[in-house]
Amino acid sequence: MKAVTVAGKKQLKVSETNTPKPDGNKVILEVAKVGICGSDLHMWENGDRIGLIMGHEFCGKVVDPGALKDTVKVGDRITVLPLNPCGKCVNCKQGKVNTCVNGLAASPGITAPGAYAEFYAARPDMVRSLPDSVSDAEATMIEPTAVALRAVHLAGIKPGDKVLITGGGIIGQLCAAWARIAGASYIALSEANPKRAEKAMEMGDVDKVFDAKDEDLVKKLQAASKGGFDQALECAAVAPAVNTAIQALKFEGKMILVGVNYSLVPITTLLTVLHEIEIKGTIGYSPKEFDQSLEMMAKKVIDTERFISATVGLDGVQGAFEQLTSGDTSDIKIIIEP
Ligand SMILES: [Zn+2]
Ligand SMILES: [Zn+2]
Repeated sequence: MKAVTVAGKKQLKVSETNTPKPDGNKVILEVAKVGICGSDLHMWENGDRIGLIMGHEFCGKVVDPGALKDTVKVGDRITVLPLNPCGKCVNCKQGKVNTCVNGLAASPGITAPGAYAEFYAARPDMVRSLPDSVSDAEATMIEPTAVALRAVHLAGIKPGDKVLITGGGIIGQLCAAWARIAGASYIALSEANPKRAEKAMEMGDVDKVFDAKDEDLVKKLQAASKGGFDQALECAAVAPAVNTAIQALKFEGKMILVGVNYSLVPITTLLTVLHEIEIKGTIGYSPKEFDQSLEMMAKKVIDTERFISATVGLDGVQGAFEQLTSGDTSDIKIIIEP
C-alpha cells in the first residue's frame, strides 16, 4: 500500500509499504480520510522518527472485522480512538487511560503506524461505528474535538463565565466552540496571525480577537473582561501567551494548559501567587470524552466540518505541512484523502 512516512527534518515521502494482513484480531480498515494534527507538525519539524507513518485522526471502511466479526461487517464506516492503553498500570486501573504510563509504547501515528496510508489495522476495543449523520470529514475532527472538550471540562466553564483563549489554531477554535456550548458569555481569543484571527471571527465562536503582539494586550483584555477572566485555555504554549493569560485572569482564576511545548516556558509566578491562580495541565481525552464528541457531532450540537479548509491526496501532504506551519495562513485544519 501507499503511505506517507517521515523522511527527515521537515521531510515527508510517499512510499510503498506492507498492507496490514488480517490476523483474526485487528480490525483492518481502508482509510477514507485522515486529519493533519498539530502534534504531527511538531514531529515533522523534529524529523527524528524516520519511517513513521503519522496520522491519528481518521476514519474508513472495514475491510476485515477481525475480533469484531459479530458486531461489525465489511464495508461498515468506523473511526478509531487512537489510544493504546495497557489496561494494567495504576492510571489505567482507575480508568484514566489518557495518562496510561505505558500509553506511548505503541501509540497510533506517534510511536506506531498511523493512518497517513491506504489501510490501517486497529485495536478492536478502540473501534467506534460511525452514524450516517457524521461525515468522513467530520469523523477526522472527533479526536481534536475531544481534546478541546476535555480542556473545557477541566476548566469547569459555566453559563455566564468569561473565557480567554490564547492561540487560534484548531484546538483554540474548538475550545471556543465548546466554551460557547458550555455557556460562556464572553469569549476572547488572542492570536498573532491576522489571517487566523479573521478566520476565528468568521467562525463566530469568539466575541473578539485580540492581537497577541499588541503591547497593550493585557490592559485591553482586563478592560474587555471587566475585571478579569474566569478561565483561560492556553493553546499557544509560548511564554508571552501563558503570561498574558495569568495577568488577564481574575483573582482565583483558572488556567488550563492545553498547548504543548517541549522547551522550558518561564512564567510569572508572583502574580500566580498573589492572585491564587490555579494552573492545570490536560493531555488528550478520556474514551468517554471521545464518545461524547462523536455523539454531539451526530446530534449537530457542535459543527466541526467548517474548520476544514482543504483536502489533499498523499502526494499533497508535504505541501500541506508547509502551508500549516507558514505562520501566514488562515488554514487551521487540512485533511488527507489517501
Ligand atoms: Zn490530534
Ligand atoms: Zn496503562
